[in-house]
Amino acid sequence: MVERAELRGRLAVEALRSDPRRLAGTEAGTWFDAGWKRRIVRRALARLPRSLRPSDAAFWAGVRSTASRAEWRRLTRSSYVALYYHRLAGDGKVGQERLDVAPERFDRQIRLLRLLRFRPLAPLDLQAFHAGELTDLPPRSYLVTVDDGFRDCVEPLLRHADVRPQLFVPTQEVGGRSWWAGDEPLASWEELERLASAGVAIGSHTRRHASLPELDGPALVDELEGSRRDLEARLASVPLLAYPHGRSDAASRSAARAAGYRAAFTTDPGRNGAGTDPYQLRRIGVKAWDSRLSFLWKVATGELLPARWEAWRIRRARPSSLRRRAKRAGRAA
Ligand SMILES: [Zn+2]
Repeated sequence: MVERAELRGRLAVEALRSDPRRLAGTEAGTWFDAGWKRRIVRRALARLPRSLRPSDAAFWAGVRSTASRAEWRRLTRSSYVALYYHRLAGDGKVGQERLDVAPERFDRQIRLLRLLRFRPLAPLDLQAFHAGELTDLPPRSYLVTVDDGFRDCVEPLLRHADVRPQLFVPTQEVGGRSWWAGDEPLASWEELERLASAGVAIGSHTRRHASLPELDGPALVDELEGSRRDLEARLASVPLLAYPHGRSDAASRSAARAAGYRAAFTTDPGRNGAGTDPYQLRRIGVKAWDSRLSFLWKVATGELLPARWEAWRIRRARPSSLRRRAKRAGRAA
């Protein structure tokens, strides 16, 4: 068993040499499917004597024994974390705690990444990376994504256009209101044009914020291909997609590919490596209650906070928002 797994690992590297683009969907492309803890254990186990290795570690030991340093780095190091945001208003509206991060907090987070030399990943590099044309990403690569195109995001994103944020908009709702989330005003086409010319990449979030697994063939084509055309007709856009509500299934993923998108984001947490399915890219949501430390945890691992830490952050955040609300109520009275 163990020898067979090791042989599979060696053969996987040779298959990759004959076609470096063929990585997603193969066993050698699954390194980042495991969380950070399992990856550490796997690295340690792969160093054990052959007879003690479990079969997963044997596979990776086989890969390691055949791969060059650059190939090993591509498979197990080269990766990035994609963050996602929604509103950047900080207006403390009840029911939007999960959607809204205050703009000053967003500013601090971007400053912190800059200070710690995290490197923003440009949309073209992202596409080249998943197409197998760019094989090495610098350490601490990250991506800021923002869904829905709320008007309150415009100014914060203009301030930080140099980190190449990606904004995903439902193209038939531009300039309207977010009926699917709090009925807030959405940015207009003019505002999106300003963002695009400043360097913010505008991508698709379908036409009408559609939940794609619920649609059949023609409706899928309309939402996906239609939205890409809407964007191309109005501004310099990128053929990237974020699934509304993070939801996709096999049919919508293949429709996204057929509609000309080069990659698509879910809201499942984790890091993205060269072997990650480009139509199921992982992202981690930044929340209003994230501290500097919990934010760094997210951008370093791409994963959710451990449950107790998250619960503690939420408890810590609540009193201050209650105080703010009480103050406002006092002023109004
Ligand atoms: Zn959305």
